[in-house]
Amino acid sequence: MLAKGREVLMIPGPTTVPDAVLSAMHRPAIDIRRGPLVDLTDTLLADLKTVFGTREAKTFIYAANGHGTWEAALSNVMSRGEKVLVLDCGRFARGWGEMASGLGLDVEILPGDWRRAADPDALQARLAEDTGHEIKAVLTVQVDTASSVINDIPAMRKAIDAAGHPALFLVDAIASLGTTPFEMDAWGIDLALTGSQKGLMTPPGLGVIAAGPRAFKAHENADLRTRYWDWTARMGREHYMKYCGTPPEHMLFGFRKALDMLLEEGLDAAFRRHALLSGAVHAAVAHWAKGGAVAFNVTDPAQRSPSVTTVLTPGLAPMDLIAFCEDTCGVTLGGTIGEIAGTGIRIGHMGHVNAPTVFGALGAIETGLAVLGAAGASGGLTAATGFLAEAVARERAVETVRA
Ligand SMILES: *Cc1c(COP(=O)(O)O)cnc(C)c1O
Repeated sequence: MLAKGREVLMIPGPTTVPDAVLSAMHRPAIDIRRGPLVDLTDTLLADLKTVFGTREAKTFIYAANGHGTWEAALSNVMSRGEKVLVLDCGRFARGWGEMASGLGLDVEILPGDWRRAADPDALQARLAEDTGHEIKAVLTVQVDTASSVINDIPAMRKAIDAAGHPALFLVDAIASLGTTPFEMDAWGIDLALTGSQKGLMTPPGLGVIAAGPRAFKAHENADLRTRYWDWTARMGREHYMKYCGTPPEHMLFGFRKALDMLLEEGLDAAFRRHALLSGAVHAAVAHWAKGGAVAFNVTDPAQRSPSVTTVLTPGLAPMDLIAFCEDTCGVTLGGTIGEIAGTGIRIGHMGHVNAPTVFGALGAIETGLAVLGAAGASGGLTAATGFLAEAVARERAVETVRA
């Protein structure tokens, strides 16, 4: 009824691809062995280091989605039968553990609660118990896209150090890179990975790994190495082998444009934008929650991610709300997945998002809540605009003082 017009995609990946990125991909293929494509690879690998916050690490681009990139990471640094510790905090943390099991690794899950961030104290305690250093790697996500929790990555590094444990520290930043600070070197991360299709505004299909010196040390003897993922095989001079075959050219054209957009905006500005827009979403949800029809999945406000918000809907059937938003308003939301499937919705607010996209999504949700008869539906959008008005006014006051 109201859906015709530009669609608004608010799932937590893939995210809206900017027109400029789509346009950059719309061109004929070019040579894969010499010329501009070789330079393009070099600039991408260099700029990705900036985005990961590393000078020390080496970056690799795979034609793969996130699952492939998980496998790429593990196969390059682990050996059959070795033990990894996975910090449970949602479906994606566990999913990485499942990939590890499939590769023949011994996977231990550090129990967690999907409504809270993984607990650095529990990590420290578990590692301190492991006096024989059987655990070879700690696997965690910065943001778990199912629960929408954000983990405190520097606190986890401190926990590993406090336990005096030599395990590698591997971090999945698929749902967070480009939306919130990530400092691979400063935070002592041995390996970080991401995908193209979330904060990085590019279609799904590229995976990126940044591998630090300790990851490379482990790589030397890792017996899970296979030809396609192998870093060593990708490190020669030959451009073709950097992708272990034909480079995914058009994806690279798009990725280049997306990184240009992100770096032109500035990483700090992009983080600020995500902080403000997620604050607006959280203000609306907090308001609706007063009526009891909805509730935050993540209980502690400080642990709510700036890229995605999982909203439980005890007062109504989430599929009805999702269907209303999509079919009647043209706003596509996600449903909850994994352990909490069928209990709520997920609002993705990362990548190519701005104030009108977020207002549009919140307006559709608020209309849907009212149509479905949820108590306390009205006022959420006003809470969101009020939050932004206050935040922006505060920022302007600071700028005036500075000037
Ligand atoms: C989306 C996502 C993945 C999986 O990526 P795919 O491209 O769907 O394989 C893994 N980890 C996190 C944190 C994600 O958000």
